[in-house]
Amino acid sequence: MGLFVRAIPRKNLIAITAGVLLVGVPLVAFDFWLGGLIDRQGRAEVETSAKRAVALAESRVSTVVGALDDLAARGIDSCDPAHIKAMQIAVFQTIPIKELSIVGPDGQTVCTDLGLPLGVRNIVASEPLSGAAGYSLDVVQVANEQQMVRLRRTSGNGPSAIAALVPAVLFIPQVTSQGGQFSANARIDTPGGISLAKANQPVAASDDLLIGKARSDKYGLGVEIAMSRDHAIANSSDLKWLGLFATGAIVLVVAVLGWIMPRRDAGNPVAALEAALEAGEFVPYYQPIVDIRSGQLRGAEVLVRWRKADGTLVLPGSFIPLAESSGLILDMTRDLMRRVCVEAGPAIGRRPGLKIAFNFAGQLFSNKSIVKDVRNIFFGSEIKLSQVVLELTERDPIENFTETRQVIAALQGLGVRIAIDDVGTGHSGLSYMLKLGVDIIKIDKMFVDAIGTDRNSTTIVETLVDLALNMRMDVVAEGVENFEQVIHLRELGIRSAQGYVFAPPLPGSAFLQLIEALDPLPVADEKPAGLRNRATAA
Ligand code: C2E
Ligand code: CA
Ligand code: CA
Repeated sequence: MGLFVRAIPRKNLIAITAGVLLVGVPLVAFDFWLGGLIDRQGRAEVETSAKRAVALAESRVSTVVGALDDLAARGIDSCDPAHIKAMQIAVFQTIPIKELSIVGPDGQTVCTDLGLPLGVRNIVASEPLSGAAGYSLDVVQVANEQQMVRLRRTSGNGPSAIAALVPAVLFIPQVTSQGGQFSANARIDTPGGISLAKANQPVAASDDLLIGKARSDKYGLGVEIAMSRDHAIANSSDLKWLGLFATGAIVLVVAVLGWIMPRRDAGNPVAALEAALEAGEFVPYYQPIVDIRSGQLRGAEVLVRWRKADGTLVLPGSFIPLAESSGLILDMTRDLMRRVCVEAGPAIGRRPGLKIAFNFAGQLFSNKSIVKDVRNIFFGSEIKLSQVVLELTERDPIENFTETRQVIAALQGLGVRIAIDDVGTGHSGLSYMLKLGVDIIKIDKMFVDAIGTDRNSTTIVETLVDLALNMRMDVVAEGVENFEQVIHLRELGIRSAQGYVFAPPLPGSAFLQLIEALDPLPVADEKPAGLRNRATAA
């Protein structure tokens, strides 16, 4: 028995040695070649990234300087209402600017385009802007720890100056030159050594780094991009496997596919998401949206849930980010829309006043094919395209503004309405998002919570409602949890709201029961809505 136990490992040892020799030699050669290739590609990527970052930073600064010069030429230099109005229009028209303000001689904010200054802002560093006489550049920390870059036109006549705030993240590229997600350490510094913006990836000290540098001729801004070599190699692991298979024996291929791959998948979260999608585990929940004047149901927002085979329910916060970064979000969203059509299509289709809203990740708006997908999915269903709302969150930075605007216009051409979600919380700023030509704004829970207790938030919501009315947009308030808030919202002129005070996100069956209870159909209307809809669509 003892002999038997010892004999097995010895046999294995021989097999392993033979396997290593058979596969190892070509693999080492392949690895050597691959290493060189990765190095060359990595170096080229960091060089190009640094140049692109400089070009982006220069264009941001030029745009802002142009806008400030223009305002100064028009004599805008005080807090009186006409000047504030002019600043609001300029913010609206100038993409990177999040806020314009009048600042005193000490650099402190006196007033902003929204009226009052918004909370704490600390000037972390300051220096004259090289290459633009009469300008200073400040780095400002605002209340929510976001870093902002402030350009201040100091050469005016009076004691106060006009200044523009731009989120520091807008100085860092969001995509690589190949269109993938930008994933590297990046640093932009001024000639005086102030750190303007940073993007940090966790890089171990032992990592072998590829570094690219560039400097802007115009404003002297210096950019340094650092990417870990290991990171580049990790991206090429598919190639390594390919080399292994090409040089390995067929037995090895079978072993790898039949034995190692399933194990890898079990520990791979993306594979787990794929499997769950395949198994139909992503299901729609529906949160009612209510008319707070009449109490009637106006529709619902679809919120995805992962219902695992063992019955546990997972909230989207823990899987949507991975679905987005892996690109699975497109299939997941299409699947969700189809499920809603099957589950709730008849009930919604027969009530043309109801709207159904879907959350659309920013990346879905950057490809025109989504327009065809949306049309096809709803064309075969009782839900009319005019009942569909697609929500684009202000949190996702918009990578390609022109493309996104075109896709939005094409979707609107189908009759679909577009909402901006989480308004007030994003990097981009509302004025930037509004240039996309949307139909609805959804006011984030953060502001709803603050209404009535915080004067600034109330003013912001009032401004938003005014703006929405002027631009013929609807407003929906989110995360409403008590009736005092409902009363405040009503007083502010808001009509639609959603939140736990009315209902949490409900599973399909409960939502359908709620529709039937709140909005029963006359018995004569119980004919199949699908037939009617298709007749009108043809
Ligand atoms: P969201 O679009 O802002 O959705 C509102 C979130 O607030 C939901 O969280 C909802 O359950 C929660 N909520 C609603 N009323 C209240 C309230 O009165 N109080 C509080 N405290 N919370 C309330 P949920 O369902 O966990 O979704 C989180 C986020 O995940 C969503 O935020 C949305 O950004 C994202 N998400 C959900 N479904 C999808 C989807 O199908 N696709 C994409 N891309 N994102 C989705
Ligand atoms: Ca939403
Ligand atoms: Ca929201």
